[in-house]
Amino acid sequence: MTTKRITRDSIPAWYQLSFFDGEKKMIILRIHEDFLPTLERANDDSPIVKDFLSTFGFDFFSNDIKEGFGFEKTFLRTSDGDAGGFVDFAIPIPRVKVWEKTPCSHCEGSGKSEYGPGKCIFCEGKGKEHRMEWKKPYAISATFTLFTTLASIFGYESETSAKIPQLLTLQTITMKDMHGAEIGGELSPFVLEWIIEKAEQKEKDEFSIAPVEEALRNTYKRMMGGSSGYSERGIRSWGRKSGFIAIDCPGNATGIYTDGSDISYRKKGEGCTLSSHNVDSPIQQITLIAGLAKLHDLVLHKNAQV
Ligand SMILES: [Zn+2]
Repeated sequence: MTTKRITRDSIPAWYQLSFFDGEKKMIILRIHEDFLPTLERANDDSPIVKDFLSTFGFDFFSNDIKEGFGFEKTFLRTSDGDAGGFVDFAIPIPRVKVWEKTPCSHCEGSGKSEYGPGKCIFCEGKGKEHRMEWKKPYAISATFTLFTTLASIFGYESETSAKIPQLLTLQTITMKDMHGAEIGGELSPFVLEWIIEKAEQKEKDEFSIAPVEEALRNTYKRMMGGSSGYSERGIRSWGRKSGFIAIDCPGNATGIYTDGSDISYRKKGEGCTLSSHNVDSPIQQITLIAGLAKLHDLVLHKNAQV
């Protein structure tokens, strides 16, 4: 049983995250081929799989890793593997808020506010009713929870032949409840050193991580039917020269953070744990994972402009 942790030790990666911001918005999960067979441990008889299938009414679960993984075909295999041994799974960001043809019942289709100048707050000026399609975001969240559970249990034991270290780990939860989408994890020293280095280059105690904010905004907008309205103000990401990192998304002070006491007592060269606050819905969870995926890209490709 290994006692190594990525917060203290450089360990060959078993997975990576990336964010693809093209016409389609996608989180990319890159799984090392040495760890990949572990996904087949989850099947239709696994209690966690059965529980998710019945709780959320998903149509099916697949562990056919040649095609994809998870509930409702949400993690799609898109590569045979690169030279580094990583196989890509794309997770397209779904539309959750879908606009209907029927006129908005509040503004009767005008899109104008009843209380003076400005847009109708119910339809954001679109003049249309909307519905929320929750199945896909819950399927993505449940698949992340299944994957991160397998990765937490078996990742450290997998000893992959990857040439790059595991930069961060995640553990998500998926429940229809308040705090039902919280995120925990670990950040390696590589992530913290990158933040500290950026703060030093900028000669600032605190700085905004603009590319992460853009990933958060684009992911959130995609799920919210192309608009983010008032709630866009909740989108923020910043780092501090202490190594502190925060990623916030729309909600009630919703976000993920480096653990405060970890940062205070951190020894040079150590990483720290990651925890979240008030993450209630899979929309928020997916937005935050997209932000972390972008942070992973920035740390992995250090030359990126921030
Ligand atoms: Zn309206």
